[in-house]
Amino acid sequence: MHYEGTIIRPPSEANSILLQVTVGCSRNKCTFCGTYAGERFRIKPDEIIMDDIAFAAACCRRQRRVFLCDGDALIIPQTRLLRILTAIRDQLPWVTRVGAYANAKSLKLKSPEELRDIRRLGLGILYMGLETGDDVTLKRINKGADSAAMIAMGRKARDAGFKLSITVLLGIAGRDRSQVHARETGRVLSAIDPDYVGALSLMLIPGTPLHADWRSGAFTLIEPSEMLAELRTMIAGTSLSQGLFHANHASNYLPIRARLPRDKEGTLALIDRALAGDVTLKPEFMRAL
Ligand code: SF4
Repeated sequence: MHYEGTIIRPPSEANSILLQVTVGCSRNKCTFCGTYAGERFRIKPDEIIMDDIAFAAACCRRQRRVFLCDGDALIIPQTRLLRILTAIRDQLPWVTRVGAYANAKSLKLKSPEELRDIRRLGLGILYMGLETGDDVTLKRINKGADSAAMIAMGRKARDAGFKLSITVLLGIAGRDRSQVHARETGRVLSAIDPDYVGALSLMLIPGTPLHADWRSGAFTLIEPSEMLAELRTMIAGTSLSQGLFHANHASNYLPIRARLPRDKEGTLALIDRALAGDVTLKPEFMRAL
């Protein structure tokens, strides 16, 4: 397989065939994100992508899923994307699901019909970074979309039949807007009603604008207990029809896995026990991205 630069994928795609169709991220401006620093966004040539699909057809027969790397594969023009998905369908018939990252911009560029065509050809799950539902924080972190756009694009993906997994970031609003961030994120998640929510805890990446703000004192990194309080408010304010709310990424202090609404009260009680000091949090040295 041909890989260039940094390859990242969601934790749930750990066993997937990682097919790199783009390099970098077409936005590459979020202030907390150092994943593709200095990387010029580009779509990989069709010959290389088709070569990799042929390689996977010969050598990856045990992997049932494909993940389209990098930052937002959905930005690929429709004809090319359909060609890639058709090749996966025809040459890897044992693959049951294809996944990709998406953002508000790439979702906006596709019509509902185009999204449905992509869905029909096997792209089954989209991973979208919301980070926060707070408009002030979305602007501060330069996410490129406000909460109304996030809701509209999340609903658009859901209406086209995609499974939708949304990532939010505990601590991203600093101390001054911590609780507003938590409440507003619950509001936006409820409006989108995704299948999965993954709450990560912010870790500052040297070289990013947010890290520079932290060093200058313009941004305050909140304490583990404040992140937990955020998580509590967020879960309390999130109504999903049957979504799974995870906060068990390696960067989190307290692993949570809750089916909402069923597990809401039990999860809030667990967080309350942790806040009261009755549940041990993961020590700092065990956290990782
Ligand atoms: S859209 Fe995602 S990958 Fe791109 S810069 Fe923002 S956080 Fe990073």
